Amino acid sequence: MKPKVALYWCASCGGCEEAVVDLAEAILDVVNRVDIVFWPVAMDFKREDVEALQDGEIVASFINGGIRLSEHVEMVELLRRKSQLVFAFGACACFGGIPGLANASMRDELLNYVYSEAPTVENPENIRPVPDYKLDGVKLDVPEFLESCKPLDEVIDVDYYIPGCPPSVGVIVDALNALLEGNLPPKGSVLASQKSVCHDCRLNTTKPEKILLKSFKRVWEAKPDPDKCLLAQGFLCLGPVTRGGCGALCINGNMPCTGCFGPLDGIVDYGAKALSFIASIIDSTDEEEIEKILEKIPDPLGLFYRYSLPKSLLDGIRR
Ligand code: SF4
Ligand code: SF4
Ligand code: SF4
Repeated sequence: MKPKVALYWCASCGGCEEAVVDLAEAILDVVNRVDIVFWPVAMDFKREDVEALQDGEIVASFINGGIRLSEHVEMVELLRRKSQLVFAFGACACFGGIPGLANASMRDELLNYVYSEAPTVENPENIRPVPDYKLDGVKLDVPEFLESCKPLDEVIDVDYYIPGCPPSVGVIVDALNALLEGNLPPKGSVLASQKSVCHDCRLNTTKPEKILLKSFKRVWEAKPDPDKCLLAQGFLCLGPVTRGGCGALCINGNMPCTGCFGPLDGIVDYGAKALSFIASIIDSTDEEEIEKILEKIPDPLGLFYRYSLPKSLLDGIRR
């Protein structure tokens, strides 16, 4: 009997599903070794198919996306019940991710904008989605839009975390092998490197021992020298504070790391860590000069909390 696995998406862009397809020929090996019993984005399974399984019959569920709808809560609770192991797959499931940036606005602000105020919207009757709706005598259940976007482990118990936006092929293959060979680390582990992105970066040898900067550059302002540490050139690379495991993919493409693998072990708030790191390399003690330097970071929330706002201390305060 092959082990049964399930894949599910919540508030997701679909990139995590693409990452599974990116396994290319390795996906054939995966399909041969497991029995996929639920993967709604790729195969015609229904919720009833999952409900019909015994509790714990699925060996592992890989769940991507943040939790933003009542339907997400229902589905992940169902999958939790039916699964021996649950893997938070991708930055959105691990930390709230890109859809979690919407937590910078209140629920009503989001609904007002999307259904009334956006320049492309015409909605004179101010129609909004409602959970119960009747159409031609048929009752429709529309999932409810929740107060905020949550990471998966704030809704159900999570056994393992596979970070990345999306997870890179290497970490997915390693996680699957560890699962199938019974080689998983202790519950709660993040299945990626224990060292920072810099450790895997081909430019690490060009990174000075101490970096001090008088200004920051954004990628559209100058062409990075591909053979020199991007941070040392003034590009805001978050590799030093980000968990490795991706093989420094972005830097190989001459782009700075934006932090999608999240924090290293022991860091409670990724954004605060990244912010304090960047503050520590500003080469000035003059308040006016520091303000000028910081003008080059016009969207600190979007930079430091791009993938982790719902997991942050800031979000805890908000709620
Ligand atoms: S982690 Fe990234 S790729 Fe995956 S669903 Fe979220 S935004 Fe998309
Ligand atoms: S380019 Fe970024 S990831 Fe690479 S060594 Fe420099 S700071 Fe680290
Ligand atoms: S370099 Fe940074 S942003 Fe790029 S894939 Fe790796 S962890 Fe993610």
